[in-house]
Amino acid sequence: MWNFRENIYFSCNQCGDCCKDMDVPLTHYDIKNIINSGTKIDLETFVNLYPSNQNDIDAVLLYGEFSTLYLTNKISDNSCLFLENNACSIYNFRPNSCRIWPFSKDEKNKLQIDDIADKLVSKSCDKKKFKDYKNTLIQVEQGINELLEFRELIKSWNIKVKSSLEDQTLENLIDHFF
Ligand code: SF4
Ligand code: SF4
Repeated sequence: MWNFRENIYFSCNQCGDCCKDMDVPLTHYDIKNIINSGTKIDLETFVNLYPSNQNDIDAVLLYGEFSTLYLTNKISDNSCLFLENNACSIYNFRPNSCRIWPFSKDEKNKLQIDDIADKLVSKSCDKKKFKDYKNTLIQVEQGINELLEFRELIKSWNIKVKSSLEDQTLENLIDHFF
């Protein structure tokens, strides 16, 4: 059975603000989708390796360091690399966290806009009564399942490449994923 928090007021006016100054985490699904978008931007450029440590459940061993994987932001204004003329240039292939933003599940499994997301929602988004609960919750659930699968894959990757610096490349990681 689906659970929804009642009376969410949110509507997207496509202002592009949520694609600026944001950290977008990537799973194996997200990376595959972006590659399938046909983008000319190469893997090493669009995947940002953010320094982490072995205690982080999302950390991947690459080039001798533990890193978490994020979409790269532009150096010029810290907006997403794929934001062009204030629109997403890979819209149909965008990561799950972009699809579901600003929604998440609360501790009772209800769809919510949490306090962090609400700061930007209050500033930038339109306030119309939200109706697409069911589809959004499906996407949120899908994101959670993809993340769990991703964590299993990086766990086996970290064990596999632990003793071989040569194997710890991003390209080999993608081969491991698929
Ligand atoms: S900040 Fe809100 S209105 Fe602007 S693009 Fe993102 S979701 Fe849409
Ligand atoms: S991938 Fe698209 S939707 Fe996601 S942050 Fe970048 S420009 Fe925005």
